[in-house]
Amino acid sequence: MSAQDDAAELAVAASAAGAALPVLRLKHREDRRLAAGHLWVFSNEVDTAASRLGELAPGSLVRVHSDRDRFLGYAYFNPHSLIAARILGRDAAFPPGPSLLVHRLRVALALRERLYEQPYYRLVHGESDLLPGLVVDRYGETLIAQIATAGMEVQKAAIVAALVKVVRPANIVFKNDSGARELEGLPKYLEAGLGTVPDTVTVLEGRLRFTAPLAAGQKTGWFYDQAYNRALFLPLARGVGRALDVFSYAGGWAVPLAAAGAEVTCVDSSAAALEAASRNAQANGTAVHTIRADAFAALEELNAARASFDLVILDPPAFIKRRKDAGKGEAAYRRLNQLAMQLLPRDGLLVSCSCSYHLEPGALLDALQKAGRHLGRFVQVLASGGQAPDHPVHPAIPETRYLKAFLCRVTQE
Ligand code: SAH
Repeated sequence: MSAQDDAAELAVAASAAGAALPVLRLKHREDRRLAAGHLWVFSNEVDTAASRLGELAPGSLVRVHSDRDRFLGYAYFNPHSLIAARILGRDAAFPPGPSLLVHRLRVALALRERLYEQPYYRLVHGESDLLPGLVVDRYGETLIAQIATAGMEVQKAAIVAALVKVVRPANIVFKNDSGARELEGLPKYLEAGLGTVPDTVTVLEGRLRFTAPLAAGQKTGWFYDQAYNRALFLPLARGVGRALDVFSYAGGWAVPLAAAGAEVTCVDSSAAALEAASRNAQANGTAVHTIRADAFAALEELNAARASFDLVILDPPAFIKRRKDAGKGEAAYRRLNQLAMQLLPRDGLLVSCSCSYHLEPGALLDALQKAGRHLGRFVQVLASGGQAPDHPVHPAIPETRYLKAFLCRVTQE
């Protein structure tokens, strides 16, 4: 038999397997979000009586049908999650399986190889790469993956096999410790899917080399999402004398500033983060000061001591994790920005970021404006940024567009 016959036979077998999957039927008119391109089905949109999904284990594959029995796509299902199903593919001839994973990874890799000269980037950005619930960051030969859903957890071995086939890495690590896992009934753990679990990850960003802790680190170890904002903003801040990097983590903002000659102080509540920032400064032939403290308390103390910085960077963790926290969160952003502005001389620069999806870009600008007005200062926005292009936005899924960053001059009217 020829290779073509083989492929044709495999395709027939695959679509037969797809046809055999249980059907998740939506209620009347609940197919609209999927039709608009979104990938999620919420539990209250499922016609449970017509679907008979009671026996299915979390993460099982299903066919999603409209109330009129139109095939909408293949998805994975979790009976215990508010997001009951996430679409993996809409082509009936290509049900989820190893070859779909390989295909998705090839498409994801092609984008990053087009964008970047060096293998340091986010390779898979979940829903935006049509691999819902999966994040993979690439650190050269080491891939750090994070699985957020039961549906992707079930595919773990297939994910490893597909990554090996497409990327050929030395190590694949699952850093499965995100808060989202609890909502899916999944345990948290760190393990090697291939090779070993390194203590640290190493990144090349611009001309600098950074090392960040893995187990004690944030996310996969590094914040690739800010790389573009650093590349855009830092040249505009050239020549600053003193800089304060609040929520510094491993010095992603601080080290390039220090390397360019600024005297930089890092503030973070994590000792491991500050050790990494100091090590990274040293490794790049420079140094930073560090303050281990709660950011708000540190800013208040620096204000009480009448400290002054030509540039303050605010890159906090998400203050608004759920929509109901929006009011409190907005107040926290406003207060933080106000405390930072007070440290700036007449013509200081402020980099203000938020990774809370629930905070609209306009709401962060509003917080900046209110803080400025309160202090009698005039805020000018010089540049705006979002997440780097290795974190693409899925236009039908607003949750995938989360990072906002503004470079401002804070002056007088
Ligand atoms: N600016 C970093 C990313 C910051 S991540 C970069 O570009 O790489 C957020 C950091 O804030 C983490 O290092 C975390 O330890 C720290 N953090 C969280 N809550 C804090 C608080 N209340 N005060 C000070 N630091 C805090």
